[in-house]
Amino acid sequence: MTRKTYEIDSKIFNVIANVIMTGKKEIRLLDEKNQPYQKICGFIETDHTIFHPQGGGQPADRGFIGDAEILHVSLEKTAESQHILHYYDFEKFTNIEKYQPGDRVELRIDPEFRFQCARYHSAGHLLADIVEKAFPVVAVKGNHFPNQASVTFVFSDADDSFFNSLKQDAKIRENTIKDLQEKFDVKVKQAIPVSISESDQIRKISISDRVMPCGGTHVENTARLFGTSIFEITPEKKPPGFKIKYSCA
Ligand SMILES: [Zn+2]
Repeated sequence: MTRKTYEIDSKIFNVIANVIMTGKKEIRLLDEKNQPYQKICGFIETDHTIFHPQGGGQPADRGFIGDAEILHVSLEKTAESQHILHYYDFEKFTNIEKYQPGDRVELRIDPEFRFQCARYHSAGHLLADIVEKAFPVVAVKGNHFPNQASVTFVFSDADDSFFNSLKQDAKIRENTIKDLQEKFDVKVKQAIPVSISESDQIRKISISDRVMPCGGTHVENTARLFGTSIFEITPEKKPPGFKIKYSCA
């Protein structure tokens, strides 16, 4: 079981933890061109971690354990417990292979990448809130990866007139984007606090008045989302809805 220190405080960038388990496993990684490949990596599990694993629409944190660069972080669930495994290249970083359960190691994450991921994640939640208030839709999917972020919405009623006009009329798409951007910028100016709560063991994030179960890292208020650009709306056929792309400069 790994305690998720990043859920309690997303501004801890280095920490000492105890090794629980080490090993090797084949995982899927992406190369520079974003193409997937399989690689056998070493892994290390610690009693707690500041590394957010990949999941919930958010990428894994970047950083180091000892000298070893962490290539991937995943949350692996068994019936009894949850383990967060930090993967590294054991051929390059042979020192880390010597760690035994109980040894103390230093974990360090990249603060800039953490901040950028938090901005993308919070921006996705805020965008979902704004769009759900503007249209009869529900947000069904969020991709908060920097430079490829989007939120997908599905219509909650059977009236498809807006869907059809979105599909056919570029001017309507353009005006919709402009209108949503203005609404977003108002919320950014208001510097609305982002708060985290927990009830019935479910972690919840509230931004504006949207409360969502979420395990991600977030900014402390919406002023941190300055520079967010909502730039594309694409109708999606099945089920009827649309996808909105955004980026955080
Ligand atoms: Zn979330």
